[in-house]
Amino acid sequence: MATFRIAIVGAGPAGYFAAQALQNSATEDQTFLIDMIERLPTPWGLVRSGVAPDHPKIKTVSKVFEKIATTENFRLFANVELGTDLHSSDLVERYDAVVIATGSSLGRALGIPGEELRGSLSAADFVPWYNGHPDFASLDVPLDCDTAVVIGAGNVAMDVARMLALDPHELDTSDTADHALSALHNSSIRRVILCARRGAENASFTSPELRELSKLEHTNVIINKNEIQAARERAGTEPEKDVKSNLDAMSLVAEKDATNNERTFEFEFLLAPLEIHGTGRVEEIVLGVNKVMEGKVVATGETKTIKCGLVISAIGYEAEAIEGVPYLKGKVANTDGHVEGTNLYAVGWAKRGPSGVIGTNKSDASEVIKLLISQLPATPKNKGDVAELLKGHTVVTQIHWEAINGAEVAQGELLGKPRVKATERHELLRLGGL
Ligand code: NAP
Repeated sequence: MATFRIAIVGAGPAGYFAAQALQNSATEDQTFLIDMIERLPTPWGLVRSGVAPDHPKIKTVSKVFEKIATTENFRLFANVELGTDLHSSDLVERYDAVVIATGSSLGRALGIPGEELRGSLSAADFVPWYNGHPDFASLDVPLDCDTAVVIGAGNVAMDVARMLALDPHELDTSDTADHALSALHNSSIRRVILCARRGAENASFTSPELRELSKLEHTNVIINKNEIQAARERAGTEPEKDVKSNLDAMSLVAEKDATNNERTFEFEFLLAPLEIHGTGRVEEIVLGVNKVMEGKVVATGETKTIKCGLVISAIGYEAEAIEGVPYLKGKVANTDGHVEGTNLYAVGWAKRGPSGVIGTNKSDASEVIKLLISQLPATPKNKGDVAELLKGHTVVTQIHWEAINGAEVAQGELLGKPRVKATERHELLRLGGL
């Protein structure tokens, strides 16, 4: 019987699914000791700090993570940062294989003048702010303006715009971080405009998220009927299934009777951001008007200016580099999840870039783990593990995390919420009994 030590760096969905794939691959002849290393005092990655608080069902996947974490031969080492508390070489030397599952945490920049102004933010900062990520709890989010513009036509842009346009009372029973909930209650924003640089037929939203918009009770959702009609014509008589489904969902919204709520969420297509203006903070954004010519999106040369006090860009992410791990074009340099010539592997967004929903990581991790197992040496290294290197360091293990989780959930029960998140590291450690 051979027992291999595998380190997984990053306790998000991709990391857990990699652990599950290893657990499912254990045989009488070959087993795995899995050590999961996480920078934050809390696991679950984007399920905790990314998924929108008004989407609690998506978060139920955390039950699967907890089952994986409480299976024999799995250990959590949270509150441990690679590059600071440990080096990737420490793992590479000791473990038979190291799986990088650290996602893509940096927001891509628009690269336009005025982007640095106060009130111009990346979704990569705004989303973890409302989700209680400890590194973003004190983010400056000025909500003292009437209009916000969100750039991008993906599900992150949709989450951001919806969170800004919802009546905050709808979030009272959610796990939105307390600081964000209170800021949203005090927000002056009444108009949120989501701007896509291409037409509706090219939007990256998924249709369940679009269909959900028709159910918003306290927000007028506006999509121009003519734009959807034009998008249908451009998409042709046999559009791809996803495109058709998206356009059908957008038509549902576009054709709904007008409502007269205080808050409005508008979609604008064929507008590309050019410049943000303001003295000391965002006052307006200038967008270039695009059109579609022979299937291509081109600039018309015309511009449209929107007065606003907040601009949030949600145009994709790239991976934050870890020392000792090679990166290329915003992700770990890998072939099918393997870093050539090493015992390093990558899964999830760190491997393929920021695409796909949580479930996508399951099949993806399973393929990478198959490859990893096929490349294992005949005998394990037996060179120890990280526990010996972390003596004296405050490690959040599974038991500590369960204490944190239990305390947050218990606090939430008193208030009719799924949990009340602790948003400071020292508070999280205190809840964990550390
Ligand atoms: P995404 O789906 O790739 O969307 C990025 C958007 O940004 C695209 O519309 C893109 O337009 C636009 N964009 C890129 N560069 C731009 C620029 N310079 N100016 C203007 N627009 C620009 O990425 P995402 O929204 O970050 O989502 C990442 C992944 O997470 C996706 O797979 C998404 O489905 C998933 N997710 C899922 C959920 C859910 O299931 N509820 C929630 C959140 C995220 P072009 O197409 O023109 O490049």
